Amino acid sequence: MSENAVRRLIAMFEAISAAVETEKDHLSELDGAIGDADHGTTMSLGFLAVKAELAKIDVDRAQPADVMATAAGAFLNAVGASTGPLYATAFRRAAQALAGANDLDLGTTAAMIDAIGSGIRERGKGQRGDKTMLDAWLPAADAAGAALTDNKASTEFWSEVVAAAEAGANATRSMVAAKGRAARVRERSLGHVDPGAASAVVVLRAMASVLS
Ligand SMILES: [Mg+2]
Repeated sequence: MSENAVRRLIAMFEAISAAVETEKDHLSELDGAIGDADHGTTMSLGFLAVKAELAKIDVDRAQPADVMATAAGAFLNAVGASTGPLYATAFRRAAQALAGANDLDLGTTAAMIDAIGSGIRERGKGQRGDKTMLDAWLPAADAAGAALTDNKASTEFWSEVVAAAEAGANATRSMVAAKGRAARVRERSLGHVDPGAASAVVVLRAMASVLS
């Protein structure tokens, strides 16, 4: 099963990269309203690097945790600032959550989503309501935990995770930025969806498309 899980995780990152390419200009436009208009480019560079690095992995020998650790290193190399260290920490935590796992069952998947959210929270020292990607990732992690507790099947698990992330991202529209570059424009950020929360939804939808 290990080989299968490794292939699925690599396919997941390929889907994320493709989705980010599609949404790249839109994400940069969102960032332009409150920041420096580079969020789409940044995410694109990060996930293209992840995809390129994962193409070199020996899928027959690698473990699921190796995929996440490789993604962490590649993302950080490609994106040194802002989003780079946040997603690198997230994927490193996800690697820890997947340590010893050979199968991507829903319990492991929920642990992976939770590790991504808590990795970003700890690295960014932020919380929900700050108008950041955490406003999508943390509700997604909560929804994953709840769906697991409720014994939801995979399709429902993922639709609840994605719906929670979408609701969280939409809620950033009425928040004033407390973290990151957008915090410098404070009130001007009102009325705009946070680009990091929007890209988190893009990432989670792509994850769902492959894993559900
Ligand atoms: Mg930016």
